[in-house]
Amino acid sequence: MFTMDDFVEEDNPILRKVAEEVPLPASEEDKKVLADLMEYVQNSQDTEIALKYGLRAGIGLAAPQVNISKRMIAVHLKNEKGELISYALFNPKLVSHSIERSYLTAGEGCLSVNRPISGYVPRYARIKVSGTNIEGEDVQLRLKGLASICFQHEIDHLNGIMFYDHINHDDPFNVPETYIPIER
Ligand code: ZN
Repeated sequence: MFTMDDFVEEDNPILRKVAEEVPLPASEEDKKVLADLMEYVQNSQDTEIALKYGLRAGIGLAAPQVNISKRMIAVHLKNEKGELISYALFNPKLVSHSIERSYLTAGEGCLSVNRPISGYVPRYARIKVSGTNIEGEDVQLRLKGLASICFQHEIDHLNGIMFYDHINHDDPFNVPETYIPIER
């Protein structure tokens, strides 16, 4: 299982690299990594396990954050309707997106960033994502709200992009009125 010891520091260049595609069908080694990414996110949301192993809570994780420069992410969260959105994917791809944008009113956080960063992070309000799950099945997702934001955050990690790259540094809380605010 992954613990905080497996995370690279924020200044590690691996977080700025474009991660490699995972050859499919996935090897047992790559499947293990993908399963472990999901296990971390789930464990981190379990108060007892998180406390026992000192895990910082998160709703998503990408392989480069644990020093593996391959295209794999895990997302595990409850959306605004209380529905569980839980996917671990190889080679996730943003297939299309809305013109409309949204942002989290509390800003974003990242398991790779241990300092407070304030400001709104503009994201596409709705996206379509494709990828391959651990069973080797093609997955197509339509996402909005928190789930859309989380998938964009994790896919960004595969392209060497950090959430704060999207913040307007001259005026961090200034976003157009048409952007949809999302409360968490
Ligand atoms: Zn992150």
